[in-house]
Amino acid sequence: MVPDKKENCGLFGIWGDPDAVGKTYFALHSLQHRGQEAAGIASCDGDVVQCYTGMGTVARVFRDGSGLLEKLQNPGAIGHVRYSTTGGSTSINAQPFLSEYSRGQVAVAHNGNLINASLLRDEYEAYGSIFKSTTDTEIIVHLLAKPTHVMKPDPLGHVLNHLQGAYSLLFMFPDRIEAARDPYGIRPLCLGRTAGGAYCVASETCAFEAVGAKYVREIEPGEIVTLCDEGAKSRFFVKPGSVKPGHCIFEHIYFAKQSSTVFGENVHNFRKRLGRQLAIEHPVEADVVIPVPDSGTSAAVGYADESGIPFDMGFVRSHYVGRTFISPTQSLRDLQVKLKLSVVAEVIHGKRVIVIDDSIVRGTTTRGKIRSLRDSGAKEIHMRVSCPPIRFPCFYGVDFPTKEELLANGRDMKQIKEFLEVDSIGYLSLKGLLSCASLPADHYCTACWSGEYPVPIDIAVNKFVMERYQMRLFEDAPQ
Ligand code: SF4
Repeated sequence: MVPDKKENCGLFGIWGDPDAVGKTYFALHSLQHRGQEAAGIASCDGDVVQCYTGMGTVARVFRDGSGLLEKLQNPGAIGHVRYSTTGGSTSINAQPFLSEYSRGQVAVAHNGNLINASLLRDEYEAYGSIFKSTTDTEIIVHLLAKPTHVMKPDPLGHVLNHLQGAYSLLFMFPDRIEAARDPYGIRPLCLGRTAGGAYCVASETCAFEAVGAKYVREIEPGEIVTLCDEGAKSRFFVKPGSVKPGHCIFEHIYFAKQSSTVFGENVHNFRKRLGRQLAIEHPVEADVVIPVPDSGTSAAVGYADESGIPFDMGFVRSHYVGRTFISPTQSLRDLQVKLKLSVVAEVIHGKRVIVIDDSIVRGTTTRGKIRSLRDSGAKEIHMRVSCPPIRFPCFYGVDFPTKEELLANGRDMKQIKEFLEVDSIGYLSLKGLLSCASLPADHYCTACWSGEYPVPIDIAVNKFVMERYQMRLFEDAPQ
């Protein structure tokens, strides 16, 4: 089943550990929920950077390249799992992205989306630059290689100041890793340390758990942390505090793993608070609260706690159904939903059921789940959603469909209720959502609900223009 909202990407890097590559492999497994289209690891022996990437999950990529982990065995490594947001799902776009320029080798891994990517690419192509991939990430390498940038006292910091949008980045140079986060801190990135004293960085702290490392702190917005033989060293490429943060609050609602700490707080606890607030805002008499697993589970626990209505598992998720295909018809899409989520009929038969989901994007997948519950004998179905109605696209690395395809775009609550075929519908308010967060409300990006983008969007250079441009390239390519 292809999800409505695709995760963005996951990053891990470690320096100074004799098992750096093995640890990166396990860390990528723990970040697999952030992307299943491609995976890769770059490693370095202090002299040469080697890289291996492939299409598919971590297990698939490194099984197909059997013996690769041993070949890459070096004390420094970075890894990436990918879900394409800009650039198609092809092997040329898999990361880390290894290049060689006048200062030597560099491998880059990126989580996020650059909104000025097409503008920069057009500019460089006009001067004769040749691009190997269709990702926005490759542009960063061209910026690094530009002779006037190479001459700067801090070329990387200088280059990062040219980028607009969302980026958490790992750079592997032959003698170090540089980990950087955009000035708004839109995507997460945190610093950890192993028991042996090696520093590591990851999109989420679940990767630290996987390798026995402890969370140290977040990489701050606008900060670069260098991991090298001397340990971890910090510097800023924008003045700290000069830009108001715009952390993607959807990381808390949907993307991140419940066990992770992102933006300084645990995801499960945050989602439980969302569920409690949802119960306060949208109470209803019912017999049982069930989640849409897995991302709706924590909020359902919170809703049940607050309402006093028993929690139960009305859906069981099959963990063996991967992404299959985009079904051409609605009836086939409904079957896909059934394949991934089985209804426990005994839990819901003859009952008034509250269904908790983290969000609704197109609504067709949700409607399929509701129909499954009806088919299994639910008496009433009350849909509760632990975020507000999504009405605007994301330009910062989350692949929502177009505005026109969003269920809540142009529909009122009565129309949404009818579309979903439920007895009642209740979305968490934006105010209620922000009241559950520990940081001040204006430290988060909420643009997919409010339409207020922290990094201004110029429609002329947005990612959809970039993607159209890439499609044109493929369409024009000789067959
Ligand atoms: S628009 Fe939505 S999904 Fe995108 S960064 Fe902002 S909060 Fe996250």
